[in-house]
Amino acid sequence: MSTFLGMPATAPRGVGNLRGDESFPAAARKALGNDQLRRNLGHATTTIRAKSGAVIGELPDWQELRSAGSALKAATMARLPELLLQLEENVTRAGGVVHWAADANEANRIVTELVRATGEQRVIKVKSMATQEIGLNEALEEAGIEPIETDLAELIVQLGNDKPSHILVPAIHRNRSEIREIFLREMPGVDPALTDEPVVLAGAARRYLRETFLSTKVAVSGANFAIADTGTLVVLESEGNGRMCLTLPETLITVMGIEKLVPTWQDLEVFLQLLPRASTGERMNPYTSMWTGVTPGDGPQSFHLVLLDNGRSAVLADEVGRQALHCIRCSACLNVCPVYERTGGHAYGSVYPGPIGAVLSPQLTGVEDNASLPYASSLCGACFDACPVKIDIPSILVHLRNEVPHPRTERAAMAAAAYTMDHPKLYAAAQHAAKLTKLAGHRLPPPLNGWTASRDLPEPPPETFRDWWAKR
Ligand code: SF4
Repeated sequence: MSTFLGMPATAPRGVGNLRGDESFPAAARKALGNDQLRRNLGHATTTIRAKSGAVIGELPDWQELRSAGSALKAATMARLPELLLQLEENVTRAGGVVHWAADANEANRIVTELVRATGEQRVIKVKSMATQEIGLNEALEEAGIEPIETDLAELIVQLGNDKPSHILVPAIHRNRSEIREIFLREMPGVDPALTDEPVVLAGAARRYLRETFLSTKVAVSGANFAIADTGTLVVLESEGNGRMCLTLPETLITVMGIEKLVPTWQDLEVFLQLLPRASTGERMNPYTSMWTGVTPGDGPQSFHLVLLDNGRSAVLADEVGRQALHCIRCSACLNVCPVYERTGGHAYGSVYPGPIGAVLSPQLTGVEDNASLPYASSLCGACFDACPVKIDIPSILVHLRNEVPHPRTERAAMAAAAYTMDHPKLYAAAQHAAKLTKLAGHRLPPPLNGWTASRDLPEPPPETFRDWWAKR
């Protein structure tokens, strides 16, 4: 199996949105103090969970579908280099141009130059976590190009000068009165009598976006899937904004992580059943747009595909961690995660929040740069049960915890514990000494107090097994 694609091992620092400004525990502590955030999140995740559970329950073969999705992803990753070349050949044959981007800097440079070459100063954007990952909006703005998000939730995040906090519902942390305030403050041409009725807010966004769709000549999209054997790109969305972006502009630029491949059209069938039920709780996706290269006189006449690595080759080379590349970004793991439900997405510091973010971000950046994320989990396993492609997130978390650089005091304590357990007399003496900690209360003294800052020290038993055995 070939895994090394010759790319840099990790996503570069100083660009993109994979690293937070503070560690997960510090950011989570702040989020836990925000009652409004917790109410918004609790309401939204409970609603999505119930909807998704109901439609999944309708399928008698859901578990078989999950296994098929998992096997297809594993088989795709095993021959990724070969399939990527096949995709490039077929996109090129259909009139598209393929660009290879080793990392965020290169991808941003390629897209900026492509937009500049059109002479346009504004782009519409749809459905792209990859462009959020690389910080494309910031790069375009620096080059004097205005990016406009067209997904309603992403537009709310953009106008609010905010960051997304959920894969599927990026503005999940906002309620409707907050959205009304953002629209009144930031949306060009908005009616000052705007109310916070969902239908009124959606109407305001629709008016603004329709004008934008009709007057913008370049679009930047992501892709949910790319089919290697025909060079076809696929975008799934719920509002129809994607359909507008993918058909109306003259130039279309798609930025896609290299892992989004499926070998054939038949493989797509499995994912088109798994994704909507696990993600939005729908039986079928509302808008599924597919395109292959360019068609004279119909749709964009210029199509560019940017294939993004940005650390993915290194993830692929890790036998345990590579499962994270199977993710189809349905967000089911977020909606069942007790940690995510209480802290929200911003605490993860990355565009990928929740359980999948806790394993994907540290792998893309290198664990040193996101060392607290593998611990942002109770290891309850709910994410594994919910994942439509059966990614074993708890096992990857444990694997990454072993790779995280541990503090010197912790390493010294573990070495001392290993030595003690290896020497029976010393171990017995340590067990008796442990009873003394009862006198010291439930906290350890410095430098070991970090461990008990958020945990109680367990009570030592009144009698050890050795003492009990000696009496028999
Ligand atoms: S890890 Fe699984 S459940 Fe989570 S977003 Fe990805 S596909 Fe969905």
